[in-house]
Amino acid sequence: MESLIERAARDLVKSHHAIALTGAGMSTESGIPDFRGPDGIWTKDPEAERRAYQSYHRFLSDPKEYWEGVLNGPSILGDLEKAEPNPGHYALAELENMGILKCVATQNVDGLHVKAGNRRVLEYHGTIYKLRCSSCGSRFSRQEYDVRRLKEAGQLPPRCKKCGSAIKGDVVHFNEPIPSDVAHESLEEAWKCDLMLICGTSAVVYPFAQLPRVARQRQFEQERKAESGLYFVEEVPATTIIEVNAEPTPLTSEGISDYLIQGRTAEILPTIVEKLKELSR
Ligand SMILES: [Zn+2]
Repeated sequence: MESLIERAARDLVKSHHAIALTGAGMSTESGIPDFRGPDGIWTKDPEAERRAYQSYHRFLSDPKEYWEGVLNGPSILGDLEKAEPNPGHYALAELENMGILKCVATQNVDGLHVKAGNRRVLEYHGTIYKLRCSSCGSRFSRQEYDVRRLKEAGQLPPRCKKCGSAIKGDVVHFNEPIPSDVAHESLEEAWKCDLMLICGTSAVVYPFAQLPRVARQRQFEQERKAESGLYFVEEVPATTIIEVNAEPTPLTSEGISDYLIQGRTAEILPTIVEKLKELSR
């Protein structure tokens, strides 16, 4: 274990464009339940999952009714706003401050990377702190709209300040396309990174799952001398992919990650940062 931590620290020091991909395992340490784990939100309440599958359709077909449902219905995410970043989040923020980590692309909607101080965060599945226009893609902070007052005034749904279309929460529903800006930027980051740190996600849900696979495909040409003395060019992987996950995942078994550091992100990420500081002294 110790040697893998050191290996990760060395790989990060060597990297020129490191990015992190994060998922639910990152947030469970902040007391946020995941969706499909043993204590997951969907596992415990299949009815909520069924409703969630219909949310996007409901928004498209009747945005007013959708918003009434949002305001009247139980919040499946409960006290998400009260959650605080954990040492894993702070470790990633520190890596960005050190100039090593260039970007975090996350599946989490809890905003904890932003709270922890990361500046370049691609919230792939949206965030609970914003509203988004599904026509023009503009985002607005949630405070900009007093949705309850709109409801009382009979003015639901809230409308986009730029194009006038009905807006919804920024969080991406089932069957809803990933907003094109984050989808595009994440893909671009996966293409150009030379180190990908995958934290607390098995990356099986598409299209997010394509990001490590895209990074794995990237190769560069390297000249090598054969035994015969002739030079030849071989393709070598251009990206180091490190997994920090509680359990091995398909990324591990399919050989997409170079190595897995098995354990809790809240414990392992800070240890990597400590080791990295030790190496840079
Ligand atoms: Zn708009």
